[in-house]
Amino acid sequence: MLIARIAPHLWEEPPISGTRGTGAVFFSGCTLRCAYCQNGEISHRNQGRPFTPRGLADSLKRLEDLGMQSVSFITGTPFVPQILEALSLYRPALPLVWNSSGYETVETLRLLEGVIDVYLPDLKHFSPRAGALCAKAPDYFEAASRALPEMCRQTGIPQYSPEGVMTRGTLVRHLILPSLTAESLKLLTWIRDTLPEGTPVSLMRQYIPYNGIAIRGLDRRVTGKEYRRVRDHMLALGLPGYLQEPAAADPCFVPLFNRDESFV
Ligand code: SF4
Repeated sequence: MLIARIAPHLWEEPPISGTRGTGAVFFSGCTLRCAYCQNGEISHRNQGRPFTPRGLADSLKRLEDLGMQSVSFITGTPFVPQILEALSLYRPALPLVWNSSGYETVETLRLLEGVIDVYLPDLKHFSPRAGALCAKAPDYFEAASRALPEMCRQTGIPQYSPEGVMTRGTLVRHLILPSLTAESLKLLTWIRDTLPEGTPVSLMRQYIPYNGIAIRGLDRRVTGKEYRRVRDHMLALGLPGYLQEPAAADPCFVPLFNRDESFV
C-alpha cells in the first residue's frame, strides 16, 4: 500500500471525529481524481510511503492507544485486499469508517461487508456532463447511484454511541461546487427519494479552486447565494444532517502529507 498520512484528525463531522478525533489513514490514489482536488499530492500524484499490512495493523493499534474514537480509511479503494489483511492482523475496537469518492463498484463494497461499520461516501455529480467536466467520469452517477444504496443496505440506519459517535450507518457528503448548484439540488432530491429515511447528509461549502484549476466556473469559491440555494433545498426536503461553517473554506484545513510528523 501507499499511504500519505496516519494521524489523529479532528475536522470531520461530529459523529465521525467525536471530541478526541478519528484516526485518519490517507491512502495514495483515488478512484475519481477530481480536477479540483485539495489533496492532489496524493490523489493525482500518488505520493506516499509503502506500507505492508503488518505496518498498517501496527499503526491502527497506535491510533487506538492514542484514544481515537473511530478509524477512518480515506480513499482506500485501490488497496482493499491489503486493508482486509491488516484488519485480520489487528482490528481496533472502534467504529471503522470508509471514506470514499462514491465512485465504487458494488463488487468491491461486498468485500467490505461485515468489516466496515460506517460509510462516508461523497455524492458529487448528477449529470454525465458534470462528471466528465470535473473528473473525466461521465459515469460517476451511474456508479454512485448503485454504490450508495449498497452501503445503506449493509449498515442500516445510523446508530450512535452514548458519546454521539456513529457506530453504524451511512453519512453522505455533498460538496457544493460553484456554477453547478443545479446538480446539488438534483442530488439532494435523489437522496430523499432513494436512500432510507433518516440517512444524514453533510452539506459542504469548503470548495476552494485548488490544483491550479482553470475550468471556467470552477475557478472561484462558492458564493453565499449559491450556498443558500442548496441549503434551503436540503432543509425543504427535510434531510437530516450537518451544515458546514463558512470558515471551513480555508487552506489551513488541508492536512500535511508525507512528512515524518504525518505518521503516528
Ligand atoms: S474524490 Fe475526493 S479525494 Fe478523490 S480526487 Fe475527488 S476530491 Fe480528491
